[in-house]
Amino acid sequence: MKLGYLVLLALGSLSCINSTSNQFTGSFIALDDGIQDTLKIKKSQKQWREILDEKSFYVLRQKGTERAFTGKYWNNNRKGTYLCKGCATPLFKSETKFKSGTGWPSFFDKIGSNVAVVKDYSLSMVRDEVVCNLCDGHLGHVFNDGPRPTGLRYCVNSAALNFKGE
Ligand SMILES: [Zn+2]
Repeated sequence: MKLGYLVLLALGSLSCINSTSNQFTGSFIALDDGIQDTLKIKKSQKQWREILDEKSFYVLRQKGTERAFTGKYWNNNRKGTYLCKGCATPLFKSETKFKSGTGWPSFFDKIGSNVAVVKDYSLSMVRDEVVCNLCDGHLGHVFNDGPRPTGLRYCVNSAALNFKGE
């Protein structure tokens, strides 16, 4: 991978943060909340690599971040459901998608406990990472500068999603 590309990736990661506050004030959901461990979808990195394209593998299984305004869905305004690209679990509905101006698909709510929130200590800061609760795939991060009624902004990578229109 060329250095320039790495720099762009780093910039992309950094701009998906909340400059005012990283404090998460919503309710936390433990990774195993409501979902038995036996129901979790578990595959080796090799198996994931076989079923995911390069960009999706990088985001979902290596916690990567796509560059802003480059993904498939940041500007998608169709009605439907966003599914996990790794395991097809429904994660977000179009009714909760809003224009955040960040260049990543942004939602103010998630579908039940299908999305979990965990602490992310990478890049020398503490952020709240959002993952698919079924396959533990990395989706993005959640911030507390979203619109009503939740006040949350789920900042998600398009490469982690598949869209199913109504
Ligand atoms: Zn999943």
